[in-house]
Amino acid sequence: MQIEKYYFASEITVLGVCFVMLVLLFVSFKVRMKSFRIFVTMLSMLIVATCADLTLHYVIAGHPDAPRPLVYGLRSVYHVLLFCLLHHYCAYTCEVTNLPAKQRKPWIILATAMLILFSVADVVGIYSGRTMHIIDGEIAFEGSAIFSAGYIAFVTMLLALLIRVRHRLYKRVMNGFFGVIAISEVVLIVARLRGQSTYTAATFLFPLIAVMYLMHSNSYDIHLGANDLRGLNNLIRYSDEHDKHYLFLSLYMRELDETGKTFSEEMRALIRHVAESYYRGSALFQVSNGHMILMVPISRNPDYEERTRRTLEQFDVEYENFRYDFKMVIGQSTKELSRKNEYISFIRSIHARIPENTIYRVQPDDLNKYRKYEIILKELADIAAKQDPEDRRVLVYCQPVYNIRTGKYDTAEALMRLKNDELGIVYPDQFIPLAEENGYIHALTEIILAKTCRVLRNLVAEGYEITRISVNVSALELRDSDFCGDISRIIDGNGIDSSRIAIELTESRNDNDFMLMKERIEELKGKGITFYLDDFGTGYSNMERILELPFDIIKFDRSMVIAGSQSKRSEQVLGSLAELFSKLNYSVLYEGVENEKDEQMCCDLNASYLQGYKYSKPIPISELRGFLARG
Ligand code: C2E
Ligand code: CA
Ligand code: CA
Repeated sequence: MQIEKYYFASEITVLGVCFVMLVLLFVSFKVRMKSFRIFVTMLSMLIVATCADLTLHYVIAGHPDAPRPLVYGLRSVYHVLLFCLLHHYCAYTCEVTNLPAKQRKPWIILATAMLILFSVADVVGIYSGRTMHIIDGEIAFEGSAIFSAGYIAFVTMLLALLIRVRHRLYKRVMNGFFGVIAISEVVLIVARLRGQSTYTAATFLFPLIAVMYLMHSNSYDIHLGANDLRGLNNLIRYSDEHDKHYLFLSLYMRELDETGKTFSEEMRALIRHVAESYYRGSALFQVSNGHMILMVPISRNPDYEERTRRTLEQFDVEYENFRYDFKMVIGQSTKELSRKNEYISFIRSIHARIPENTIYRVQPDDLNKYRKYEIILKELADIAAKQDPEDRRVLVYCQPVYNIRTGKYDTAEALMRLKNDELGIVYPDQFIPLAEENGYIHALTEIILAKTCRVLRNLVAEGYEITRISVNVSALELRDSDFCGDISRIIDGNGIDSSRIAIELTESRNDNDFMLMKERIEELKGKGITFYLDDFGTGYSNMERILELPFDIIKFDRSMVIAGSQSKRSEQVLGSLAELFSKLNYSVLYEGVENEKDEQMCCDLNASYLQGYKYSKPIPISELRGFLARG
């Protein structure tokens, strides 16, 4: 017969650590996924088991003649709960490794059978007084202790399970578990050899600490209070499974994404403040450097409209200090998006079509638009991957341009359309921003340029008088060092003269882009390509910079034509600008000339070229023949 040596201090420490863990879990963001719930149950079981053991020893030490049923009951609770805990380790392992239900079943059945068998045997042993005696206020045990047998059986089974699933988790994490189990067993063996039972609870605790650290550790960025994408995905999965509804507020600042800049200290403080104070139970997620999403449980914020109003008011005030361009999208979770977890791509689809510095509230129709967006995005990806210069999905439309000096249509602008089986003809406003954001734009430019060159070659061969056709190019494309080479290769490859091609570019605000633009234009101009400045007069115009770039033709945007036709003062401004450009040897082209009144005004204001619905809507490029003179 062996006397157990028992120290209260050890178990009190175990209890303390358990409570510390509970506090830590409570303060860090957790989606209440199944594995997490199992884990918390395990921790609670250990707390109750340890309390039962503490009480047992306290009772025995103080009252050696305490009623036996009480003593046996406490001992039984202690042992059975520890068996339950081992059983839960098995369930936890299956859950966290996503073991398929079919493979999970035998393990769970085995663990449950062991739980029942050992619990019953142990409790019977205790109550029959066969495994446990009380001698002088201390517990003694004898013979084949059933608990030890059960414990060894469970640990063996768990090790077998862990080995079975070892490839289902990252190797280092798995090694962590094996290491912790080994340490626990060493502690247990040493304790047993020295006749101590006190460390039993501790050996259950060590693996729990490992689980918490490796699987459920703090996911906050401590400066921002934000969680990462994985947390967001878990939350969405959970909300879908449990029918929980969320309000989402998404804030995107492109510049931070593009430059890799991080938030300033003040901004971090502000973000923390918003995430903490404006809604109850909200959680913040950082999707990328400049993209944050706040998820707000609607059930806890029935007054979310009012709260949102206050948040936006505060945003308005604070925005004055930060002044980054932003896009904000506010909406609610829907089954359709949750099921496939498509919030991020849904939000991005909205970003693609709203202007900077707008707050957008999701409309019911946005989901349809998003489906359309997905179709287009897929099509663009495929077009870009195939790189077929004759791709039938890319259509070249064009708009003839009237030359005032010659009185003929001798130039034209190529305008792109997509042809999609499901959507029919898709217009540029629906796919150009998407192509730009996803890096497909240059592939499209190559196709439209190649097709335009081929048509031009035919027109010239057929004897039509056509000076050149202009093609639109995105400023983004100029960043690629192959840009000039690609353009020259396509023009030369199609056997036409570079002077028959013009490139339309819009201004860029970005300093680096400006320098690049200058270099690229100079290089291609050297080959004889003409350059147009597109959309002059829309928003931002830096005259100093424009004059530094060697453009040939300035295209006055339709908004200038409208303004000029509406007020005398605007007409005067337009006239002086046009005169200035003409004096500096640029040609002036007016876009969006819709009627005779527009035409008359533009002719009076230094126009060289006119383009607009008055002459023709964009037409398939083959129909251009109808506008051209034939020599
Ligand atoms: P943009 O370069 O300013 O092209 C002129 C747009 O104004 C065309 O729209 C044209 O249909 C429209 N327009 C022409 N005349 C009139 C008029 O009298 N009144 C009005 N209200 N509008 C007129 P579209 O074809 O829908 O193209 C829209 C924009 O998409 C283009 O604006 C251009 O920025 C872009 N885009 C079109 N094709 C391409 C392309 O091949 N590559 C690139 N990167 N962008 C393209
Ligand atoms: Ca254009
Ligand atoms: Ca334009």
